[in-house]
Amino acid sequence: MALRFFNTLSRSVEDFIPWDPDGKTVGMYCCGPTVYDFGHIGNFRTFAFADLVRRYLEFRGYAVRHVMNITDVEDKIIRRVNERRVSLRDYTSQYEKAFLEDLDSLGCARPHDMPRATEHIPGIIEIISQLMGRGLAYASTDGSIYFSISKYRDAGCRYGQLVTLDFDSMRPGERVKSDEYEKESVADFALWKSRVPEDGAVFWPSPWGEGRPGWHIECSAMSMKILGSSFDLHLGGEDLMFPHHEDEIAQSEGTGAQPPGRRFVKYWLHGAHLLVEGKKMSKSLGNFFTLRDLESRGYNGREIRFVLLSAHYRETFNFSFDGLQSARPALARLDECLDKLSELAGSVQASPDPVLLKDFTRALDDDLNVAEARGVVFSWVRGMNQQLADKSLKPEGAASALAAWREVDRVLGIGRAGPAADCAPVEVAALLEERQAARKARDFKKADALRDAIKAGGWVIEDTPHGPKLKKA
Ligand code: AMP
Ligand code: ZN
Repeated sequence: MALRFFNTLSRSVEDFIPWDPDGKTVGMYCCGPTVYDFGHIGNFRTFAFADLVRRYLEFRGYAVRHVMNITDVEDKIIRRVNERRVSLRDYTSQYEKAFLEDLDSLGCARPHDMPRATEHIPGIIEIISQLMGRGLAYASTDGSIYFSISKYRDAGCRYGQLVTLDFDSMRPGERVKSDEYEKESVADFALWKSRVPEDGAVFWPSPWGEGRPGWHIECSAMSMKILGSSFDLHLGGEDLMFPHHEDEIAQSEGTGAQPPGRRFVKYWLHGAHLLVEGKKMSKSLGNFFTLRDLESRGYNGREIRFVLLSAHYRETFNFSFDGLQSARPALARLDECLDKLSELAGSVQASPDPVLLKDFTRALDDDLNVAEARGVVFSWVRGMNQQLADKSLKPEGAASALAAWREVDRVLGIGRAGPAADCAPVEVAALLEERQAARKARDFKKADALRDAIKAGGWVIEDTPHGPKLKKA
């Protein structure tokens, strides 16, 4: 079976055939973080999904160029910079650094290119100039530049490739300046925002006066600069489909730079959201956890990665502490089996067991069915444990199993990675969650008893403004 992905462009599962005539190289872009704060684990669900796509393509023999931008200028960032009276770079660099640390903790391979928007202003200006030259962009009275949806459509292009839009309710020439807006307010969007006093020191010169780019044009400029005007895969969370990705298509295809018969992007993949009690985990709802929150509660990056990669990427799923707590025993089962296999294999080398690889590949070829792939891994663990128990496995068999596991783990990235010495045992982490629930219910007697139980386990709770932390007593 061929590798297949669900393409949002066609709303169907398609065979994956890259543009490269040799079928070897793949260009992949995933919208990166807006570095105005720490990322939450909902954001990291999307980045772990991108990591899985990249690793699986590599496993399938493709040479992948993985690009992820850093959005370091946009509405929210500018607001914070001016509130705190710091420079743009000083403000964003701390969160960029934290983001990379979090990516490492989660075992995500670093993308090959991580361009910053502020370092691509000339490229952004060039694209806007091209769109102006083609009559698809215009200046408003305040000097801002907008993309004209009606001119784009008059030129025979389609606006509304990823989502269905209602143009009847659209008033021609209506404009939207903010970076994020709803589908109902489909309107000409800002490419270049003229400088206003609230922007403080955040502005650049341009042929249209001082100002700054809109968010959408940043991704068009960076992706096309690095991967060319037409590339294979574009990823992001499902909330980016509209307006961000729709606008990226319009701007990029509006330049007319794509070779004949080629789209800006061949396959658009969108990851579903991580939810909390049925609602999207988001900063605005306040229902979020950062990786650091969870680490300080006694969980580690490996466990969190295991949870983030538990459901199919197109399915929303609820984050819960119960789910997170089940990661440690599952990983311990895996580790124990691998330890026994290593012991039996000794120094024997063997080629990878084709059965495990075949089943694993079948699952992931099917639009990256990671839930099924994990099922394959854990039933393999059961089978191995059985053979180890009844002593039917020989050292060659164990070596072959381990070689196959190493291939599988090049994709999943959940293998044991160093000791987690500073991590509280799962029972202690569970007591902390119980204590949190007791405090929420104002049962302080129970909460105190749980604190004592945690202490008896050799850990103390430190309450911080960001939530409780577990520290070794
Ligand atoms: P941002 O830093 O807000 O630009 O978001 C970075 C990425 O995280 C984008 O691809 C978003 O679609 C994605 N994202 C935001 N919230 C969630 C969530 N709750 N679950 C999954 N992905 C999310
Ligand atoms: Zn983007």
